[in-house]
Amino acid sequence: MKVLIATDKPFAAEAVNGIRDVIEKAGFELVLLEKYTEKKQLLDAVANVDAAIIRSDIFDKEVLDAAKNLKIVVRAGAGFDNIELDAATANNICVMNTPGQNANAVAELALGLAVYAVRNFYNGTSGTELMGKKLGIHAYGNVGRNVARVAKGFGMEVYAYDPFLTAEAIEKEGVKAVASAEDLYTTCQFVSLHIPATAETKNSINYTLLSKMPKNALLINTARKEVINEAEIVKLMEDRKDFKYVTDIMPGNHAEMAEKFAGRYFSTPKKMGAQTAEANTNAGIAAASQIVDFIKNGNERFRVNKK
Ligand code: NAD
Repeated sequence: MKVLIATDKPFAAEAVNGIRDVIEKAGFELVLLEKYTEKKQLLDAVANVDAAIIRSDIFDKEVLDAAKNLKIVVRAGAGFDNIELDAATANNICVMNTPGQNANAVAELALGLAVYAVRNFYNGTSGTELMGKKLGIHAYGNVGRNVARVAKGFGMEVYAYDPFLTAEAIEKEGVKAVASAEDLYTTCQFVSLHIPATAETKNSINYTLLSKMPKNALLINTARKEVINEAEIVKLMEDRKDFKYVTDIMPGNHAEMAEKFAGRYFSTPKKMGAQTAEANTNAGIAAASQIVDFIKNGNERFRVNKK
């Protein structure tokens, strides 16, 4: 069995060593294609491999058609919109991602942004602490769960809203479940966003919802920019001088926000939540383990395309 790592932007050497370990222990052979510059190199590399581990590399119909022996491709990371799922299904190729492997990295960044905000962006003035404050986690998935764990370490009172989970599932982890997004925003001075961008969530973080937050509110966004109603958050922050917003996903109206709300708004220059050595290594090794488990045992737990 040949397993290809095809990475335009390579993994760290540590991650490649970890992947090699998993692949070779399973009795498979590892093939590396890194920093390729032309599609032809990718088309040649996929021609005779059984499995592939990729990052943001494009696996479109042409690549999938050229991969005559390919049985599985795993995106080391969460997003998989770089893979043409229908073409993979048509060619009987299983597509997987590695959800959750970057969750701790994103969670640490979320709490780091919160500290930065309550300490007034380290501008030399006296700030406030997180301990004892109410933190609302909007969507209790992989990242949300990790934010809860870290926030409890800070001594925060943690609440969560997730319509796809039962209150019991949330509360057994020492987090208070609330029945609606409105409840979460009304209860919590701090809200950390972890919803995916779906038809339902796009633009859903709007004036009405945010205006429910208690005094000295802080919104932390490490999720997606599409979920924020950008025009309405401007209006809200104009109306509420006590409201701060920190984000890991630069909004479309960043220049306007930065100018109007200096001292109350911050965006990372590019999405940095998952940018850690550990997240990179975890995702690569998870991808390798999933490939071995799929080929040896038929495990399709993380499959994202139709059969
Ligand atoms: P996940 O799939 O593990 O969790 C998502 C959760 O959202 C699930 O529990 C689901 O039940 C819940 N959910 C879905 N629709 C909802 C709704 N309408 N209201 C409330 N909850 C809802 O995903 P994750 O890995 O925890 O990622 C969460 C977010 O973080 C995503 O938006 C993802 O794009 C983003 N993310 C950002 C970075 C970064 O670098 N900043 C890295 C990874 C993920």
